[in-house]
Amino acid sequence: MTSARNVTTHIDDVVILGGGLTGLFCALKLAPRPVTILSASPIGEGASSAWAQGGIAAAVSDEDSAASHAADTIAVGGGLCEEKIVRLMTEEAGERIRDLLGYGVPFDTDLEGRLQLSREAAHSVNRIVRVRGDMAGRAIMDALVAAVRETPSIRVVEGYLGEELLHEGRLVTGVLARRRGDRERLAFPAHAVVLASGGIGHLFAVTTNPPEANGQGLAMAARAGAVIADAEFVQFHPTALNVGHDPAPLASEALRGEGATLINGDGTRFMEAIDPLKELAARDVVARAVFRENAAGRGAFLDCREAIGAAFAEKFPTVYAACQAAGLDPVTQPIPVAPAEHYHMGGVLTDANGRTSLDNLWAAGEVASTGAHGANRLASNSLLETVVFAARIAEDIQNQMPNPRSAHWPGIDDRIQEPTRRNEVERAAITVLREVMSAGVGVERTGEGLTATLAVLDALEARCARRSILNMMTAGKVVAAAALLRTESRGGHWRSDHPELDPDQAHRSFLTMSQVDEVVRAAVESDIGRAAVAARGLDQPISGDEA
Ligand SMILES: Cc1cc2nc3c(=O)[nH]c(=O)nc-3n(C[C@H](O)[C@H](O)[C@H](O)COP(=O)(O)OP(=O)(O)OC[C@H]3O[C@@H](n4cnc5c(N)ncnc54)[C@H](O)[C@@H]3O)c2cc1C
Repeated sequence: MTSARNVTTHIDDVVILGGGLTGLFCALKLAPRPVTILSASPIGEGASSAWAQGGIAAAVSDEDSAASHAADTIAVGGGLCEEKIVRLMTEEAGERIRDLLGYGVPFDTDLEGRLQLSREAAHSVNRIVRVRGDMAGRAIMDALVAAVRETPSIRVVEGYLGEELLHEGRLVTGVLARRRGDRERLAFPAHAVVLASGGIGHLFAVTTNPPEANGQGLAMAARAGAVIADAEFVQFHPTALNVGHDPAPLASEALRGEGATLINGDGTRFMEAIDPLKELAARDVVARAVFRENAAGRGAFLDCREAIGAAFAEKFPTVYAACQAAGLDPVTQPIPVAPAEHYHMGGVLTDANGRTSLDNLWAAGEVASTGAHGANRLASNSLLETVVFAARIAEDIQNQMPNPRSAHWPGIDDRIQEPTRRNEVERAAITVLREVMSAGVGVERTGEGLTATLAVLDALEARCARRSILNMMTAGKVVAAAALLRTESRGGHWRSDHPELDPDQAHRSFLTMSQVDEVVRAAVESDIGRAAVAARGLDQPISGDEA
């Protein structure tokens, strides 16, 4: 067992868990109120925000309107978008883009200084604000990291992994965190805690997300009793480079927007037979098609030779560099692709001000579920959602605690301890977790596969003691249990055993950990669950060598 040490009697006004776009933007919006950002990695690194290629969707041109942006968002949300949330998100987009410009983000502009806008799938007009082709995420984060470093009211504590929420019943009172490599945990008490810890990609074997996106925040909130919404809705990006890299590099949708086509190993343009929009059909439709071509052994390839050709390196420098690193030349050869976990629509349930179902706990960004995306996310709406709700949280906290306290932080005891390394059993458990999540809770799901996954996760959990690994198992269980309970196909959630949309299930899902535990118990006690656990030898006691 790790011990928890209260570093100080000092109680922070606000502790933000996560240093991606959500965390940094919220901290800047709270300035000059003192804020501590706890981040597993140095800010600007280990965050999906820095890897975003497309940009931010915002209705900022004369030809566009918030209403049109809202209509496009709702159209892809599978009937589950919270319309009020979508409306305010699209209406506040322009203001948040102005904020980002104010922090120094160098969005592309034309000669007259107007924002240059590009188009992505399912947007009815050009409305993606971007930076130098596919560099939006990096450029936004570079500007915000610089702004945060220059803001004296923001304390950045890097290399600390939040593992648990401190709470007294429904009242959240802080975060327990462990410095990476240390055994001992430190308490960071706070009057307000903001979860900004990102997504769940690394619960899956193939993902475009950085390793820090492994469901810690989701699990911490669930274990503290928070309501989790829409956890079954996971977006798989159809075109990650299929070259065995972890994380899998993304071949941005903008490539298909420029006319790149999807072909199989026989050279057939397989999307032609599947959807009138072909390669620009909804992400889940394209992801399933790519998945099936690969599963059938025909392979799936993105052919950019004709549509982009020699302009590739200049137009898409990030994707080009990833291809080169994998020994591929997209100018002269089709590039192999596979679907990869990309974005979690579900998360910790929040209201319009980012408040969760627990007191003094807010959440925004990918860890949260505002209802803006419904069952499927419209491209480039996630960065927009992070900034809109991070700003709303800042305002809500200011209103709730009008008088900030002083910013005299005590020093953190930085003595180096003996690093702890994951042991063999823990490493193997994570590998199995990621395998079973991809097989059972991936692009195509069945009741049987989900039941088996839940039973295996439960057996794996019994073999691990480290809190961060238990959190990964918990997050996996939440997603799999929600997916098992939704017996229909909608948006990012596809059940091969229930391929139809069921109008009676046209509502969001809400789960607490005790409900998840009930679903897990039934799975563990089922014949399918027992067989799955036995098939992996997880019904045997851990040998002395392993333990
Ligand atoms: C390759 C890629 C391309 C994308 N392209 C786009 C795009 O063009 N447009 C768009 O809108 N969206 C895009 N997305 C999605 C978007 O980037 C993310 O949804 C968004 O950036 C999430 O922001 P966030 O702040 O919630 O999380 P992140 O940016 O992932 O930040 C999470 C932070 O929390 C930290 N953290 C995690 N766990 C802990 C813990 N336990 N303790 C302490 N710190 C922790 C991480 O280190 C990180 O600092 C893309 C995503 C990927 C992966």
